[in-house]
Amino acid sequence: MRVIDHVIKGGTAGLASARRGAVMDPNNGVQQAEVVLGGADALERAVAAAQAAQPGWAAINPQRRARVMFTVKALIERDLDELAVLLSAEHGKVIADARGDILRGLEVVEYCCGLPQMLKGEYSHGAGPGIDVFSMRQPLGIGAGITPFNFPAMIPLWMAAMAIAAGNAFILKPSERDPTVPCRLAELFVEAGLPEGVFQVVHGDKEMVDLILDHPAISAVSFVGSSDIAHYVYSRGVAAGKRVQAMGGAKNHGIVMPDADLDQVVNDLCGAAFGSAGERCMALPVVVPVGEETAERLKAKLIPAIAALQIGISTDPDAQYGPVVTAMHKASIERWIQTAIDEGSELVVDGRGFRLQGHENGYFLGPTLLDRVMPEMKSYQNEIFGPVLQIVRAPDFETALALPSKHQYGNGVAIFTRNGHAAREFAARVNVGMVGVNVPIPVPVAYHSFGGWKRSGFGDIDQFGLEGLRFWTKLKKVTARWPDGGGDGSNAFIIPTMS
Ligand code: NAD
Repeated sequence: MRVIDHVIKGGTAGLASARRGAVMDPNNGVQQAEVVLGGADALERAVAAAQAAQPGWAAINPQRRARVMFTVKALIERDLDELAVLLSAEHGKVIADARGDILRGLEVVEYCCGLPQMLKGEYSHGAGPGIDVFSMRQPLGIGAGITPFNFPAMIPLWMAAMAIAAGNAFILKPSERDPTVPCRLAELFVEAGLPEGVFQVVHGDKEMVDLILDHPAISAVSFVGSSDIAHYVYSRGVAAGKRVQAMGGAKNHGIVMPDADLDQVVNDLCGAAFGSAGERCMALPVVVPVGEETAERLKAKLIPAIAALQIGISTDPDAQYGPVVTAMHKASIERWIQTAIDEGSELVVDGRGFRLQGHENGYFLGPTLLDRVMPEMKSYQNEIFGPVLQIVRAPDFETALALPSKHQYGNGVAIFTRNGHAAREFAARVNVGMVGVNVPIPVPVAYHSFGGWKRSGFGDIDQFGLEGLRFWTKLKKVTARWPDGGGDGSNAFIIPTMS
């Protein structure tokens, strides 16, 4: 059985680890590898290597650090096909979608090629007599990233590229369910010329996460995963004196106004609700048609579109989505569908019981459509994270606006309309972090920033873009006086003012 080891100091660690986790092939339900579940010895080794490497890396001028990012970009592009196959084999998303996962991460690497511009400080000449004030952004030292299974390339790259380009050493603890691609990415950074010890990968579960959160040499933790764990990571990390950003789960709504182009909406919804088997934090698992007539027209178009969806193994070029990640997750999604039925929602299309010929043990689920879902239902209030679309009917715009605004999650939301005023009002008033206007999955581009609100995001600073730069650096403010000989005669016992 293939063993997936930590990547410490540019190579495998070779530490004897008593605990191992199973990495499954979701297409067939068989184990394909085992991943070491590390403990204190692995983390201590990684931290020691990071401490040795980081000061030298931070001392290299930003432009030379950026050159490493240019090479990382070229190497990821060189290996894109191979990485997509590896990613798809462990996650279960189809190859084209796996490429998208890598490419969205690559966009942040590209952004980091220009980081010297962003790292420039501010300067005020003559802020007082002979006084200049300037600021500089300095790296934090050692940062850690803890990432979920559903984007094993994009999310590690969001964190690693920003942290490293800013001059930090970075230790990644990827999901134990699909750990191969994160390791390959760390190896590519080393191949690109990054000094060993600047980007390392330690594998593990809660034990490793707790060790990271408590480690005094780690200054910052970036987490992406489910909300309860995000909240736990945030609280424990902050209590240990770290800077923490912790992105959580989601329940994104798509509001459909009566004037929307319904053919376009149905196409967008099918991709956003069922693509990647619904395992995206920016999926659209809730659709809110405004008005009964809109609801009926939308439902009539959704039913045949859903029936036409192609489900297949992740390497099938015709498949639109593949299996979910584990048997346990499949069972959880099936339980949520049953809960939704028991709560009184109308089962329009039932995806349970779907079997793919030749892959009967794969973790496949057909698409499910539920109508007449009500806000008080548990299946609406919670994240299902599977190929399940729930219709919540709203009589008017204000009711539709209130649904995502009042929901416990506030990651993404979309409005579909031809009415610019309605869209503008919606974007301004909705209590959600990322808004799409006729865009079903509004993940901002790399030079903006990513982050949800409410229980979708703990901590104040978002991922990547200028926010990411703020997260991975600390701002030093320097006030320098070069008087023209002698003192200026001011009373040194009184706080200096500009009066
Ligand atoms: P998860 O919370 O189970 O795991 C995330 C990370 O936390 C993994 O590295 C895992 O090893 C670790 N972990 C698991 N249990 C832990 C525990 N008890 N204590 C400490 N650490 C623990 O999430 P997942 O199932 O891998 O990913 C899916 C979830 O992530 C969904 O809720 C999804 O919405 C969310 N997500 C959010 C975003 C976002 O940006 N908001 C992006 C992607 C995924």
